Amino acid sequence: MAKDLVINIRELKKSYGDKSAVGGVDLSVHRGEIFALLGPNGAGKTTTIEILEGYRKKSSGEISVLGVDPSAHASKDSERRWREKIGIVLQSAGDAADLSVEETISHYAKYYSNARDPEQTIAEVGLSDKSQAKIRTLSGGQRRRLDVALGIIGNPELLFLDEPTTGFDPEARRAFWGLIRKLRDEGSTILLTTHYLDEAEELADRVAVIKDGKIIEVASPKTLGGREHAMTEVSFIRNGVRETISTETPTTEVARLERELGGEIPELSVKRPTLEEIYIRMIGA
Ligand code: ATP
Repeated sequence: MAKDLVINIRELKKSYGDKSAVGGVDLSVHRGEIFALLGPNGAGKTTTIEILEGYRKKSSGEISVLGVDPSAHASKDSERRWREKIGIVLQSAGDAADLSVEETISHYAKYYSNARDPEQTIAEVGLSDKSQAKIRTLSGGQRRRLDVALGIIGNPELLFLDEPTTGFDPEARRAFWGLIRKLRDEGSTILLTTHYLDEAEELADRVAVIKDGKIIEVASPKTLGGREHAMTEVSFIRNGVRETISTETPTTEVARLERELGGEIPELSVKRPTLEEIYIRMIGA
């Protein structure tokens, strides 16, 4: 396996009974990359991620995560050393507890030889003013921030984030994006799933679109689905009626309209397709 491949999957298949959830997935994630798995509900994202985390068994295929097949550790000790290097934020939050935020984070930090500073980590996820609050008194979004803090407390080489910002307010999401970029800049590799296309666009170096357990395409957010060649829509009002022109040369089109209309173009908008529009087209919704 190439050295900079943190995750390498070949022909991964997973069935639940006779129902196929993942139907032959190939995927590679490079060291230092933020990689997003996109796909509709039930596409197989969580199944794939949890197999990579060693929490579900594959039906067949080859997987390497930090050089190891998560379903075949050589020993308990080697599994523990492997777990030390990965951080996990699962989709469902853990049980409410009577411990405080600070107690919980400090407790988990003890499991890792290279843990982050608990107080700093609490600040990084924006929970400083809730540091002494009991977990059961936190709001949904605050609980999710705590999940993120628990995922990163061990300073992971590889971080799995399954829908990390569900329930975050807009400000918390932006702060979270900053934190994830910082972790990447410090050397972590990040695999995330998200239903927020703006989140994928902001964060991901590459995205994979998965549908019915199969990868449709892997590309950068800018080039997914031929986005860089997609037509731009120039829209404006002429004689009280809105007109829309699809064009590959919007600058030329706007200059022509300016000459034609003799100055300012009424209610002009120039719009390239968003990642969300491209994605919706791709999954055929
Ligand atoms: P979401 O966006 O809703 O989280 P997902 O892409 O993560 O969806 P998965 O949770 O991986 O999708 O589910 C893929 C398919 O496998 C679905 O059809 C789901 O019903 C099925 N599935 C998942 N877990 C199980 C299970 N434990 N037993 C049986 N079927 C399952």
